[in-house]
Amino acid sequence: MLDMIIKGGSIVDGTGAAPVAGDVGIRDGRIVAVGQVDEPTAETVDADGLVVCPGFVDPHTHYDAQIFWDPRTTPSNLFGVTSMIGGNCGFTLAPLGDESDGEYLKKMMVKVEGMALEALELGVPWNWRSFGEYLDRVAENGTAINVGFLVGHCALRRLVMKDDSVGHVATAEQVAQMRRLLRESIEAGGLGFSTGRSFTHNDWDGNPVPSRWAASDEVLELCRETSAHPGTTLEWVADGCLNGFEDDEVELMTKMSVEGGRPLNWNVLTIDSARPEAYRNQIAACEKANSEGAKIVALTMPILVGMNMSLGTFCALHQLPEWKTIFSLDYPERMAKLRDPEVVTWLENQAALPEAGVFSRLTGWDNYQVGDTYSAANEGLKGRTLGDIARERGKRAFHTMVEIALEDDLATVWWPLPTDDDAESWRLRAQAWEHEAVMIGGSDAGAHLDRMAGAPYTTAWLADCLHGRQLTSMPNAIRHLTDVPARLFGLRDRGRVAEGFFADLVLFDADEVGATDVELVFDLPGDSKRLYSEATGIKRVMVNGVTTVVDGQPTDALPGKVLRSGADTDTVPVP
Ligand SMILES: [Zn+2]
Repeated sequence: MLDMIIKGGSIVDGTGAAPVAGDVGIRDGRIVAVGQVDEPTAETVDADGLVVCPGFVDPHTHYDAQIFWDPRTTPSNLFGVTSMIGGNCGFTLAPLGDESDGEYLKKMMVKVEGMALEALELGVPWNWRSFGEYLDRVAENGTAINVGFLVGHCALRRLVMKDDSVGHVATAEQVAQMRRLLRESIEAGGLGFSTGRSFTHNDWDGNPVPSRWAASDEVLELCRETSAHPGTTLEWVADGCLNGFEDDEVELMTKMSVEGGRPLNWNVLTIDSARPEAYRNQIAACEKANSEGAKIVALTMPILVGMNMSLGTFCALHQLPEWKTIFSLDYPERMAKLRDPEVVTWLENQAALPEAGVFSRLTGWDNYQVGDTYSAANEGLKGRTLGDIARERGKRAFHTMVEIALEDDLATVWWPLPTDDDAESWRLRAQAWEHEAVMIGGSDAGAHLDRMAGAPYTTAWLADCLHGRQLTSMPNAIRHLTDVPARLFGLRDRGRVAEGFFADLVLFDADEVGATDVELVFDLPGDSKRLYSEATGIKRVMVNGVTTVVDGQPTDALPGKVLRSGADTDTVPVP
């Protein structure tokens, strides 16, 4: 007797193979039959006219905190994600040595991953110490999606070095302690090791996060520990992920993977025809590392994800050359400076310097769209572009931006329109998707909550493949969203519609599949805000054989599993 038969769907199995008409039989959470299935069954789901495919695997999320107040991890659940990786970029909420560690990491997450402090205080229980206890708390609380967590370097370093984790190199004894902690954490189920040295990652006080102070030897020691454990993986983010890699970064990245004996993924590869040299440098870096025995994989997003900007709260604009000299000032002082036209011109000129690197993409001020405004003076501006308003006022666009923001006490929300939506950028992207060192991902879901919404990339890309640019076939896109990431992380029996695999499935209507427009909602603990969107065309999502979404709406079920290294993952060796 089967638990369920999904009858008469168009099965896209995740391998890239063309759709095949057929049924899927499910028992005890697994797929037990594919094809024509006529066994007795407790439940039959009619999939006539629907695509039946594996659930999507999101390789890069930061749901480490949200999963406590929202075990459905919305909206990724609605977008058909059935397995995901957390604990990326060196940032995890465990292990903790004492309360001061939790306090430090909480505030660091607010700054570095754009989470609301109220949400982290009201919505997270902080009732663990070890990494294993953290995983147990997640499992007890329940999860709609299967989730594995890497062990973050910043938490290890903070626990061992306390305040010295910022500003100091570790002693040999401290490195040895971190290594022991990592061993315990992975033995308890951590999926591997993540670290970060990106210049964009600063803590609450504006100092580089702990992992940025680590010597290369420390990082390699921790990668070597990872290699001793089955089913583990590595992840990092470095300056080169944004600007193109320097030789020393390529060397370290290569050693991390070779000495760690594991694949290493980084994010996020941005492809822009206006800056082809950055993208070529990054692909070449992966190729060089891989020719030396490493397995390096770059994550790249298959859709354009808008990111809003603010002159008030911390955002990517603050990374423009020397801008922090103004934007680290408190509000009254900052506003006083911004009222001086010479300062505004200076900021504009700084932003145009080559040192702006990847952030130069943010300086097309004409193409900024006004989002939410707050003062009477700005009424009616929402939805208009700065270029348009500036022409009307006879001013330069950036000066107009500052003028408008000052009226709102800097709270105005700005949406830069994409500068890289041209045919050549898309041609390069479609080429990159098929490169062996590139994988689809990098949603950052669960992070940067009021700045961007990456979670919709699954169905938004499918819509683009089916009804938009059609740069690749739907079965190939599904392969990139399912089997490819499942294989990189060694997720055992996941990522395909095949006998013996877990019944992690998505049923969607190919005509309707897509995503709604992104909007700002205030539904986090403490009424803090986030950007939100829902999927369209998703008729059903199943995790471990249990239905979690019906007609776009979540069910009460929390059938997801905390994925533990070795138990739920196989070792993916480097070549
Ligand atoms: Zn990240």
